[in-house]
Amino acid sequence: MANPFVDDAKVITEDNPFESMMQRFDEAATQLNLDPNIYKILRWPNRELTLYIPVLMDDGNYQVFTAYRVQHNFARGPAKGGLRYSPDVTLDEVRALAAWMTWKCAVVNIPFGGAKGGIICDPRQMSPSELERLTRRYTAELLDFIGPERDVPAPDMNTNEQVMAWMMDTYSMHARHTVTAAVTGKPVELGGSQGRREATGRGLLIVCNEACKKFDLEIEKTRVIIQGSGNVGGVAARLMMLEGYKVVGMADMTGALYNPAGLDVDAVLGYLKEHKTVEGYAEAEHMSNEAILEMDCDILIPAATENQINSQNADRIKCRILAEGANGPTTAEADEIIAEKEIYVIPDILANAGGVTVSYFEWVQNRMGFYWTEKEVNYRLKHIMVGGFEDVNRFCDKYKVSMRLACYMLAIDRVAYDTHLRGIYA
Ligand code: NAD
Repeated sequence: MANPFVDDAKVITEDNPFESMMQRFDEAATQLNLDPNIYKILRWPNRELTLYIPVLMDDGNYQVFTAYRVQHNFARGPAKGGLRYSPDVTLDEVRALAAWMTWKCAVVNIPFGGAKGGIICDPRQMSPSELERLTRRYTAELLDFIGPERDVPAPDMNTNEQVMAWMMDTYSMHARHTVTAAVTGKPVELGGSQGRREATGRGLLIVCNEACKKFDLEIEKTRVIIQGSGNVGGVAARLMMLEGYKVVGMADMTGALYNPAGLDVDAVLGYLKEHKTVEGYAEAEHMSNEAILEMDCDILIPAATENQINSQNADRIKCRILAEGANGPTTAEADEIIAEKEIYVIPDILANAGGVTVSYFEWVQNRMGFYWTEKEVNYRLKHIMVGGFEDVNRFCDKYKVSMRLACYMLAIDRVAYDTHLRGIYA
């Protein structure tokens, strides 16, 4: 039956993350019987900015970079979302990521909307001073649109604490006073939160522990494969190893490592830090980062980038639990195949919400000027992640839908309710 909410027929391309997001959004809206007027409003981002940023390069010439900031929704509070540096950034990708931030914050019930930024650049080809000038000019261009009450950026792929420190400093120079709450994911010395660096990986660990409890899996016998060895994948691998899981596979963009007896995660991460590649690492079988996804395991954690599990490979995925560390690692077309295989999915907007949750704690601490210990941060993080996990499972059982749909339904229901309460200012 045609979706009564969809008012324009569109050709859907599987690898477009925005289309993938919208397919799930439409399905959830239909299931919720969402008010068609609220539906119309939630289908669109609130604001999209495209910037062309001139940057002085080290050779004395200027280069103009294309950059985006999409602010998807403010119904529940200031927009929140990362900033990504990559040659592959597209407006549709940033749109999808911004919407996912809205749904993610709503799933774990924190008082933020959603936003995302991206700059088309190759940070590996740029010097630190070029990156600093790019970051500062991008921040300056956005001064009227960001800030603690408006939109609070954070790190994402290829951005880090240093980039956040430059953003905070640029914002503060214009405000004429230090505004730590302008961004999150800052160095701890500059108002960053204890536990923020590990938060996304720790959140993944928490929801995987809950899933193991649900299915009576013994942690010591549970084999884990993780694609991506950065802030999310690398930290998750380490924390899961420390918890007792057997991490049998790891990957980064240079390739993948597999050892059925378990990898020494610290040794792999140390090797990657030194050599910038998995090539030459001795204690494992080497394979492509596509092949590692298809190896037998109990928990698969794609924690690299979008569209890694798609209609081409979904039927070869062999895990019992799919815990999505990356944003949008599974396409909408793959959802159905994964469901037929009865793989239990912990969707991205729940599984990787640990990062934005501790970003929220950082923003709270900055505004209070009072800082928590790591123990306190981790305790509160666990409380929120377990609460989100339970809420989504309750929706799943109540509506007899997949975990994916349950996540979207829970999030959309919360944002729709708040939008309705506020009313539409016209
Ligand atoms: P990162 O830049 O720190 O690390 C990315 C990792 O993925 C690197 O190891 C890189 O080599 C690897 N990689 C990239 N393409 C790959 C490919 N095709 N195959 C295998 N490995 C590949 O980035 P990150 O912060 O870890 O983010 C990873 C994902 O998690 C992104 O989707 C991001 O949006 C999402 N995410 C990040 C956070 C956070 O707090 N950093 C929070 C929520 C979600």
